[in-house]
This record gives sequence, structure tokens and C-alpha cells, in this order.
Amino acid sequence: MAKVKAAVMDKVNGEIKVEIKEFPDPALEEGAVLLKTVYSEVCGTDVHLSQGQLAEVPYPIIPGHINVGIIEKINGNVCDIEGNVFRVGDVVTFLDVHETCNRCWYCLVAKTTTRCPNRKVYGITYSARDGLLGGWSERIYLKPGVKIIKLPPQLQPMDFIAGGCGAPTGLHAVERASIKLDDTVVIQGSGSVGLSAAIFSILGGAGTVIVVDPAVNRLEIARQMGVDYTIGEASEEGRVNAVLDVTDGRGADVTIEASGNPKAVSEGMDITRNNGTYVIVGQYTDAGDVSINPHWQVNKKHLDIRGTWGIDYSHIHRSVRLMAKHSERFSWRKWISKVYSLDEVERALNDVENLRVMKAAIAPNGEF
Ligand SMILES: [Zn+2]
Ligand SMILES: [Zn+2]
Repeated sequence: MAKVKAAVMDKVNGEIKVEIKEFPDPALEEGAVLLKTVYSEVCGTDVHLSQGQLAEVPYPIIPGHINVGIIEKINGNVCDIEGNVFRVGDVVTFLDVHETCNRCWYCLVAKTTTRCPNRKVYGITYSARDGLLGGWSERIYLKPGVKIIKLPPQLQPMDFIAGGCGAPTGLHAVERASIKLDDTVVIQGSGSVGLSAAIFSILGGAGTVIVVDPAVNRLEIARQMGVDYTIGEASEEGRVNAVLDVTDGRGADVTIEASGNPKAVSEGMDITRNNGTYVIVGQYTDAGDVSINPHWQVNKKHLDIRGTWGIDYSHIHRSVRLMAKHSERFSWRKWISKVYSLDEVERALNDVENLRVMKAAIAPNGEF
């Protein structure tokens, strides 16, 4: 193709705008792959990007960090982690995080590549000046070394993108939670991270899964998925009492915060049992401070609090495999409220920001 269309988010005089721009069809360096984009998504991070709430973003950018596409061109021999060679026509996704360095203290000693200072992320920390490095584009340029995963035939692109970045993020949170068989798990928040965490908690052996969200419109999806209880009380006291009611007055063994609201953190401590585990994954941007009582809520409670930042390759690898295995049961595609074209990305951002949609997919080349 002669020109590639992409939605570019730029900061002009302090204001962030999205415009459709044309880019040249890129020449592939050795080891690079060109994808014809099937779906990208609009996630909460994209809303934060459109409001300038993330630090160190090299605007202009092409947003869209979790994507699925068809391989259109390959230069050289490019393999997955098991040595299987990719071919033109394969339907694939890829880890948005690229160039974790494997030579810094975090990569090598702490073994926490999500905190590697050299990591670059497609759709977030790569600039549009460096090429087609985001999914809101007809084509995506996969640089050499990007970790590509072929979608198993049981996992349709629509189901994959419905889970979107919520799926590997929710899986990471559940991994941090170290759920034991028959644990009672409370999830705060019913966006795609929260619902994914609920699914992976069920698959991880939780005995009872409870989803709490005062924005009740998504709780129906949680019920359809098979969670045991949904709690939508408007007041904090009402929600805390409702959780205590169904946990014999003790609170949850594990609570996972996926709400994005700092106030949920104090509440989450109150609904977790003594010597329970509290995982925080929803505070991706700085949404402000909150006061807690360290004596009652942490120290005396013997509470184990764990933060969760980003994903590494293992999280997307395992979430793709689990989604493929359980795509019938959980039918992720039901989360998609609307598929938007490239020209409609601003509307999609607006709909996600105002919670008018559960999940917004972007189809830059038209519906698949
Ligand atoms: Zn590193
Ligand atoms: Zn995301």
C-alpha cells in the first residue's frame, strides 16, 4: 500500500488532540514484521493519555498498546519463544513492552522487568516520529525483538481484544494475590481489569468470588460470567457490611483493587480479613491521596499489601492460552459494546471516559 493511515495523539499548545495522519509504507529492517491491524482497543490508559495524565509520554504518539493483527510482511526468520517460525497470514498479538534491557539492576537482580528504566511501550512511550508503533493505525511495525504470539485457532480476535490489556493485567494481579484453593476473593471494580481478575480467580481455584462496584451497570456481566456475588451498594458502609455478611463477618481472604479510585484502597483494607492479602492494581495514575489508619487497617490486621505494575511476557502468554481454552465459557466478546473506525477514535475515547461503553474496540481496516 502507498500510504498508511493512523490516528495520532499530539500535544499542541498544551492541549491534546487526535488527528488522522498518513505515513509512508515502512521498509522492514531485518527481523521486523508488518501487521495489518485487525483490532486495537481504547483502554483507561488511552483516556489518561488523552488528558496528559501520564509522565514522560513523547507526544505525538499513535495510541493502542494491545492489538491483534495479520502478518503482512516479514523480513527474515522471525520465531516465537518456542522457535515456531511466523508466516505471512498468521493472526498474532504481541507484548506491547519492548526493549526491557536485560542489563540493569531491575532486570538482572530484582528480576522485575516491569520496572526496567529502559523499557519502551507500543502506543504509550514510543513516538509517532519513530514509526507505526501503536495500534490505532492500519499497519503496525513490529521492531526486531518484539515478542509476538500467534493466537490459537480457538481464540477469535474479537474475544482477544475484548479482554484487551485488562486480561494480562488482571492475570498479573491474580498472580500477585497467591490465591489458595477455596479462598474468598473480592474484586473492587468491574472494568476489564476487574472482570479479568474475577475470571482468573475462578480459574485459580477461588471458592467464592465477589465483585464490588457502586457503578452497577457492569455487574450484570459479572453475574453472567458466574461470580458468586455482586455488590453495588452506593455507600462505603453498605459495601463493607455486604462483604462482611457473606464472609462470616471476617472479610475476604484476598481483595484485589481494580477500581482506579484511591478511596477504594481504605475500603479494600476494611473488607479484607486479618492476615489477608490486598493487591492494588487499579491505581495506574496518580488520582490523589487517601488517609488510612496504619494501626487498625495494616499493623494490627497483619495485612499483606502488594502493588502490581504493568505486565511482562509471561502474563500475556498465559492469558492468551487461558482465553483460548475458556473462550466459550466466558465469551469475552460480549464485553465489546461497539467497534469504532479510525475516524471515530475521539468518540470512542469519550465513550470510554464517560463509562458509556464496557469495552471499545478499534478496527482500523474495517470490521474483521
Ligand atoms: Zn532493564
Ligand atoms: Zn491498556
